[in-house]
Amino acid sequence: MTGLELDGQQVGALLSRVAHRLGGFVDDLAAAPALGTGPLPAGLDDPPPQTPRSADELLDLVMAAAAVGGNPAGPRFFGYIPGGGLVSSAVAETVARTVNRYTAIGDLAPGLVSIEESVLRWLAELFGLPAGTGGLTTTGGSQAMLSMLVAAREAHLGDDSTGARLYLSDQAHHCVRKAARIAGLPRDAVRPVATSDGRRLDPEALAAAVVEDRSGGRRPFLVVANAGTTNSGVVDPLGAVADVAAEHRLWTHVDACYGGFFQLTSRGRARLRGIERADSVSLDPHKSLFLPYGTGVLLVREPATLVAGHTDADPGDYLQDLRSGQLPDYASMGTELTREWRGLRLWLPLHLHGIDAFRAALDEKLDLAADAHDVLSRIAALEVPEQPELSTVVFRHRDGDDASQALLARIHESGRVWLSSTRLDGRLTLRLSILAFRTHREHVDEALELIAGAAGC
Ligand SMILES: *Cc1c(COP(=O)(O)O)cnc(C)c1O
Repeated sequence: MTGLELDGQQVGALLSRVAHRLGGFVDDLAAAPALGTGPLPAGLDDPPPQTPRSADELLDLVMAAAAVGGNPAGPRFFGYIPGGGLVSSAVAETVARTVNRYTAIGDLAPGLVSIEESVLRWLAELFGLPAGTGGLTTTGGSQAMLSMLVAAREAHLGDDSTGARLYLSDQAHHCVRKAARIAGLPRDAVRPVATSDGRRLDPEALAAAVVEDRSGGRRPFLVVANAGTTNSGVVDPLGAVADVAAEHRLWTHVDACYGGFFQLTSRGRARLRGIERADSVSLDPHKSLFLPYGTGVLLVREPATLVAGHTDADPGDYLQDLRSGQLPDYASMGTELTREWRGLRLWLPLHLHGIDAFRAALDEKLDLAADAHDVLSRIAALEVPEQPELSTVVFRHRDGDDASQALLARIHESGRVWLSSTRLDGRLTLRLSILAFRTHREHVDEALELIAGAAGC
């Protein structure tokens, strides 16, 4: 390719080469191992050349590089929290980046920003949040957590974070602590609260901690509850936490990054009851909405708090032509100014596939997890502490941590499946996280057979 311009015909030719590769890649995923072993292809760290290389050569190199390492796009990846990555969303991304409109502030792209807003409005309704709820799309849950924390700090503490206290369970995601550090809260601002009833945040312990802190001159302002913990997928008692928060004037944030989209199913909706009372909710469409990595969402009941937390006296004079005030101003609600137009990567899959398809996929994961729990419970060498509330099944070897570690290594030996481990109840525990949209019964059955074999039966 000479120069930088591609005409329409060249765009088509390039995309059809890419389409050919990706079509093959997707078809091969069914058979692909969960862990691709090396070696890495040569040439990955070559500097860019002065003159063009062929698209085919470059695509070959990229696909060979992708084949090494974990494969969360495939159906046998059960580690961490996989989503798979809908190709329709990747296609949306190509469209979004080709039209390349400026969506930091709505005025330059009113139509495209309306598309993004329609998704945020739909999400607010899905979670029972009132009209007027706002928010923004982010790069992920950690970024959403940071913006929430800054809004809550601003709303409850103002300029002075002295004595600030925020509460979470010992099962909360570590991004809450990270956000507190970035936001400049004092190091002792984070107070973990005891869990009870199967690793769920204990509302009475929360109330007691708040009362103790207030009488000691501290300034409680925020509680972060889980709608599906990363470790094991349990949901905190969201209604009871909201009661305590209302009584003690705390901002309630629900971290629904893992479990949020189970709200589309009737079982999930029942388990997430109380989420409608949150002041804010964070979501990771790149988990339970199956999108490719890089998309989070923050919903905030009072979006003015987001603006208050993210703006100061200097609005940027160079932007003065853009702020009609009629359209969303994402730049004032989050950390970014110039941003990707993330709306389409959500909107296109939702409209193209329809909500029923997402609901069915999520219901399937709930069924698979419940059945996997039953199968694992019948393996004598394993201890299976609990029924999965969502789609994560936890288990360990009865003989302790070393045996569990060795079990994980044996499960991984063939490279066919991939699981990850954590610590629960002070013990090394394996997690089977059944969430990727490409994961179906035959893949879970294969994993269960490998686990049974590795456990010695
Ligand atoms: C994954 C996760 C996060 C962090 O989200 P990122 O998108 O990885 O930044 C936060 N909370 C929970 C419960 C998660 O599972």
